[in-house]
Amino acid sequence: MPLSEIRITLPAWVERFVAWQEPCVSAEARMALAIGLARANVEGGTGGPFGAAVFDLVTHRPVAVGVNLVQSAQNAVLHAEIVALMLAQATLGRYTLNAPGLNPHALVTSCEPCAMCLGALLWSGVRELECGATRADAARIGFDEGPVFAASYAYLAARGVGVRLEVRRAAAAAVLEDYRQSDGTIYNG
Ligand SMILES: [Zn+2]
Repeated sequence: MPLSEIRITLPAWVERFVAWQEPCVSAEARMALAIGLARANVEGGTGGPFGAAVFDLVTHRPVAVGVNLVQSAQNAVLHAEIVALMLAQATLGRYTLNAPGLNPHALVTSCEPCAMCLGALLWSGVRELECGATRADAARIGFDEGPVFAASYAYLAARGVGVRLEVRRAAAAAVLEDYRQSDGTIYNG
């Protein structure tokens, strides 16, 4: 029988890892969480070297976080950004983070999003995207980001989504490099 339901569960360590009440006012502070999640995901053996978080840009607190669950869940779409966006929307009970009455939100990701995640963040209603490592950093260790073009970012900008690239890039890229040196699986290479 085909399944009629799937369950998406973050690794148990995540709950202890995140200081939910602690405001992260700067992009660098928000990125530190995303990078920390990426590194802990590798070190915990729970997935690929990518982490993400959705932040409320008024309270500056994280609403939800995600880590890459592709291998652990056997699910190609469970990139860190997708997991964070889905959990943020489930937490708030809204299909868009741009719904009336909600504060603006940012998606903070340890690496520039792939084509799928760029699409998802557009529909998610986040007002800002903050990225750590670059597409080139991911490609250097063999991860393919898919059909992402300069026009993709121009489209986001035209829709009012602010983009900040290379936030704490060196620290974010170091997670990728360490993953390669530990012979981590490149599942979409
Ligand atoms: Zn992705």
